[in-house]
Amino acid sequence: MITQARVVVIGGGVVGASVAYHLTRLGIADVALLERRSLTCGTTWHAAGLIGRLRGTRTASRLVDDSARLYARLPEETGYATGWKRCGSLVVARTAERLHQLRRYVAIGSTCGVDAHIVSPAEARRLWPLCRVDDLAGAMVVPDDGRVIPADVTQALAAGARAGGARVLENVTVSRVRTRDGVVTGVEMDEGIIECETIVNCGGMWARALAQRNGVVVPVWPCEHFYAVTRPIDGITPDLPVLRDLDACVYVREEVGGLLFGGFEPVAKPWLADPIPEHFAFSLLKEDWEQFEVLMRGAAERIPSLESAEIQLLLNGPESFTPDGNFVLGEAPGLRGYFVAAGFNSGGIAGAGGAGRALAEWIAGGAPPMDLTAYEPRRVLPRHAEPEFLVERMRELVGLHYALAWPNREPVSARGVLRSPLHDRLAARGACFGSKMGWERVNWFAPPGVEPRTEYAFGRQNWFAAVAGEHRAAREGAALFDQTSFGKLAVEGPDAQALLGRLAPNDLDVPSGRTVYTPFLNERGGYESDLTISRVGDERWFVVTGSAQRVRDADWIRRHTPPGARVRVTDETEAWATLGLMGPRARHVLARATAADLDAAAFPFGSVREITVAGVAVRAIRMSYVGELGWELYVPVAGAGQVWDALERAGGATPAGYYALDGLRLEKGYRAWSRELTPDDTPLEAGLGFTVRWDKPGGFIGREALLAQRARGLSRRLLLFALEDPEAVAWGDEPILRDGRVAGTLTSAAHGHTLGRPVAMGYVACTAGAPAESLLSARYEIDIAGTRIAATPALRAWVAPREDR
Ligand SMILES: Cc1cc2nc3c(=O)[nH]c(=O)nc-3n(C[C@H](O)[C@H](O)[C@H](O)COP(=O)(O)OP(=O)(O)OC[C@H]3O[C@@H](n4cnc5c(N)ncnc54)[C@H](O)[C@@H]3O)c2cc1C
Repeated sequence: MITQARVVVIGGGVVGASVAYHLTRLGIADVALLERRSLTCGTTWHAAGLIGRLRGTRTASRLVDDSARLYARLPEETGYATGWKRCGSLVVARTAERLHQLRRYVAIGSTCGVDAHIVSPAEARRLWPLCRVDDLAGAMVVPDDGRVIPADVTQALAAGARAGGARVLENVTVSRVRTRDGVVTGVEMDEGIIECETIVNCGGMWARALAQRNGVVVPVWPCEHFYAVTRPIDGITPDLPVLRDLDACVYVREEVGGLLFGGFEPVAKPWLADPIPEHFAFSLLKEDWEQFEVLMRGAAERIPSLESAEIQLLLNGPESFTPDGNFVLGEAPGLRGYFVAAGFNSGGIAGAGGAGRALAEWIAGGAPPMDLTAYEPRRVLPRHAEPEFLVERMRELVGLHYALAWPNREPVSARGVLRSPLHDRLAARGACFGSKMGWERVNWFAPPGVEPRTEYAFGRQNWFAAVAGEHRAAREGAALFDQTSFGKLAVEGPDAQALLGRLAPNDLDVPSGRTVYTPFLNERGGYESDLTISRVGDERWFVVTGSAQRVRDADWIRRHTPPGARVRVTDETEAWATLGLMGPRARHVLARATAADLDAAAFPFGSVREITVAGVAVRAIRMSYVGELGWELYVPVAGAGQVWDALERAGGATPAGYYALDGLRLEKGYRAWSRELTPDDTPLEAGLGFTVRWDKPGGFIGREALLAQRARGLSRRLLLFALEDPEAVAWGDEPILRDGRVAGTLTSAAHGHTLGRPVAMGYVACTAGAPAESLLSARYEIDIAGTRIAATPALRAWVAPREDR
């Protein structure tokens, strides 16, 4: 047994092996991979081994693409086979909507180098002769997809890691991770202690409980997961592509002349073992034919010869899923050196190569190498790892993997983790709620007589007219938004200004009463957050950030706080309700509920005041995300109802939701975190150079990278687009074509009701140093599921912002 290592990887499944392999490839040889029994004994050994590259997002597709390339070359590199077979995928569509989804996937593929195309039912039949096709609308072919033998991949990765210097130790169980002052110092086992500065929890379905011992939140839960294997069937050949019938929830592949078929039941079965038994190794769960029936029926509908096939095995193995279907990858907030790679949602074999590489690069380089925000542990709250929440969500989540991927699909289970104090009032006004970071948020308000329920579609949805009314109210009168889900952090102390000033590129040397719009940037100059910071006292700052960012921003501030600095960071998100009163008549409405002077001179744009509204002390900030006159009112939760009622009584403000907000901000060219502003995008590329004070004393994080980028010239820029076809519906993620060739991807899109056309944004490649205006002379189109829609580009907003009135 060793006593020291630089990195300890806990768990010898495919993911742990991949992390260890990639660390050694990056020159970190002092790695110990610890496995409680034998490599692959958890979930990995019995996986079906499918590698499907086209996922719902570009990042996910790129990670799998990375894995596939790795598994193809590992045998030569390590001398160990992986079973990689480039058999391709055939994904069939039973309905027009499903075909539309596949066309969107083909389009995503075109932006990240994954070849895919749509074929007719007849062609699908040619590729898969036993497949029934008379009920199909079409199919998608991904020629470079394939399959592997998961245990072999793991052994090959472990062999590669060993060859790179790593020690792979089996029959070693980590009982606890040791820490001191918020930093990892080692791991404890029966055999002793290994001192280390970094651990990676790759414990699969054990990861949650292990993490919990250190207060780390890993929201994973195992579900029973099934496939069946038949005896040989006439006509089944080894070269068949993997067949997926998403509408029937099933996948099918050849296995020794027969078929292996499994899938994702619409109502899944969480495994209710808590804790996971210690002895569970190379183990399976009991057969459950009743649970499997829906998959059995679906597969037989697609391949009629299955009706008479003899089933030789029904395998039921546990697999870990997460509440949003994204794996958990990255460093835990609040505990330096504690990394996690778990919760692979039945895509761990496909994802391990790319995810392992990304995590190893993060550890080696000290920062994520790319935008991994959708996967980071900082995206959830502690309550997302509570058994009650997870078990309820899991029943729905598993089925969502093959369910129709509606662009704005909301989960229906385990909702209401956090509720605004105005929730009942909003519901009474017809609110249709969505969810974000656990909060119930209003997406749109149904007019009287209309049920507040979104009817999903890829085209216009049933809320279009209602949202048009909300949009108009914000542009012409006043709209009232409940934005309570905003993240709110109090940063206080004598060193608060110096700390925030180092994180924020904008100028924070402002008097009390001012609000500053600024990014936080990483060392690459990319966005870590996009927020407003208000000075509310000499040493007190009120940081307002997006709903999804409260944990990540608090973590960012804390991890950059120098030792001994006199700063306190408190998450006050749940203490304040937020009401956004926006529109040209906002002053008029608010004046009826307050005696405060709201005049532009007394309360200018970008200022913050403590005022009394309806008898409640309120922090009011003159800001607007819709580009109109407006105030954000931060109200202590206990007074929120009173203030809402007073504003309603004042008359003239229409309740509005987040769907309206999106169209409103896009028309005005306002960028959004996680869409236009990600760790991979800089303020210069985003056209937000005005938020950077280049010469502020002490500089700021990201400055050197931005200076270098400015000197080099930009090779990509954010453009605004207005689509020519007023009926077109884009959702974001669609390819942008310039003079007929892919030049970028839309980051956001919505209908601009003032403009009467869809509006969008997206980054396009450009020649370094070429003036931005030169981009405007080309011909642009947006590829919406294979249909090209002409689009007019612009550098500035379509509807001029006028919040400063
Ligand atoms: C029926 C089925 C079919 C599947 N098909 C596919 C597929 O076709 N394609 C695909 O991509 N994915 C598939 N998967 C999913 C895939 O198997 C998993 O996502 C993947 O194996 C997860 O790997 P892992 O390394 O995270 O977990 P595991 O393989 O479970 O590894 C975790 C390891 O950590 C060890 N460990 C835990 N705690 C400790 C500790 N304290 N100390 C030391 N060691 C510890 C465990 O013993 C275990 O070996 C399938 C899963 C199932 C169940």
